[in-house]
Amino acid sequence: MTLYRATILDTPANPFAGHSLRAEEDAGIVVDDDGRIVARGPFGEVRAAHPHEEVIPLRQGMLLPGLVDTHVHFPQVRVIGGLGMPLLDWLDQCALPEEARLADVDYARGVARDFTTGLVDAGTTTALVFGSHFAPAVDAMFEAAERTGLRVTTGLVVSDRLLPDELLTTPDRAYDEARGLAERWHGSGRLRYAVTPRFSFSASDAMLESCAATFKEVGGAWFTSHVNENVAEVAEVSRLFDGGHYVGTYANHGLVARSSVLAHNVHPTDEELALLGSLDASVAHCPTSNSALGSGLFPMRRHLEHGVRVAMGSDVGAGTGFSMLKEGLQAYFMQRLLGPEGVPLTSAHLLWLATGAGADALGLADEVGDLSVGKQFDAIWVRPESGDPLDVGLLNANSSQDALAKVFALGTTSDIAGVWVGGEQIAAGRWRRPLS
Ligand SMILES: [Zn+2]
Repeated sequence: MTLYRATILDTPANPFAGHSLRAEEDAGIVVDDDGRIVARGPFGEVRAAHPHEEVIPLRQGMLLPGLVDTHVHFPQVRVIGGLGMPLLDWLDQCALPEEARLADVDYARGVARDFTTGLVDAGTTTALVFGSHFAPAVDAMFEAAERTGLRVTTGLVVSDRLLPDELLTTPDRAYDEARGLAERWHGSGRLRYAVTPRFSFSASDAMLESCAATFKEVGGAWFTSHVNENVAEVAEVSRLFDGGHYVGTYANHGLVARSSVLAHNVHPTDEELALLGSLDASVAHCPTSNSALGSGLFPMRRHLEHGVRVAMGSDVGAGTGFSMLKEGLQAYFMQRLLGPEGVPLTSAHLLWLATGAGADALGLADEVGDLSVGKQFDAIWVRPESGDPLDVGLLNANSSQDALAKVFALGTTSDIAGVWVGGEQIAAGRWRRPLS
């Protein structure tokens, strides 16, 4: 077993339900050989109970739960930063030409490597990953996730209209390829399958029915797609589905459930929010993407009022990077900009959105999301270089909440000095600072 000594901050219960940040200075946390947390408390007490374990000293900075990204596109890592376009133009000019390149499996393997490096460097340990339109590229993604040790749920992206021809498939082929991928990967280690129509804009009822068959037949599979992101997109979906609402295009096929995560939902009607709430589905709020594409300001208050679970996603590559700290800060900005309509977010809310909320949305809250006894040790060590403004801020913080706010305001991926999944320290492709 291993004993970590650190200042630990986490949100074991939902701050939107009135719970507060848990902060322990100079805590000890004991992790067994299966990566499970078996003891936690004041360091002196934990040390006395475990006098022989190796101690890993992480006193500077803070230890947080591993970050959870509930919406991130693996094929788009190389096109992050395509600014200046709204959604449908950005897809045409930026995202889809790159996604077509993943027909070449060697290219896809390189992209999967770049992508997992991005996740690990940002401290993301669990992700719901939007896959590729090509089955061999999805295999490459699963292989990269398995190699890295990340907890990844992903699948084949399917569409049968209104996209470039090379990205289209048929409902039958989509079903066969999805079942094959699920057979190979679903439930293997930390990997799970996600049924993934790109969006109902590009998926006919026949294609959504094929998705429903896979969703029903693969036990424990997740469902993910996009919804209500951009006003032009919403209008076109309504036209394509004879005036029906966007959430209904999925719900009509049984695709909206506890194990569903729909990304964006910037422009929902109350009827759609009520449906999402009653079906117990989750929404992935993607703040930098919504800002970069000018999609709109996320109505978080209305989601909370309708009892809809809200987690957070980076939406790489429309989102501007992998950092869930940056997403948290942008979520905070956007709620401020909404004025009285916005939800005033504290640093505890931001940490919850970046950790526990994602674990909950993905049905993994018994395993990860905070650093309680019984959970897996998925953790990140935030330790800025000394003299860096974040380091100065942490040394001068007047409370744990204040210190955590500084991490969201100033923290970058280069401040993540250590990343663990299931008790194993994982590393990406580039040099990392040794623990000290
Ligand atoms: Zn997306």
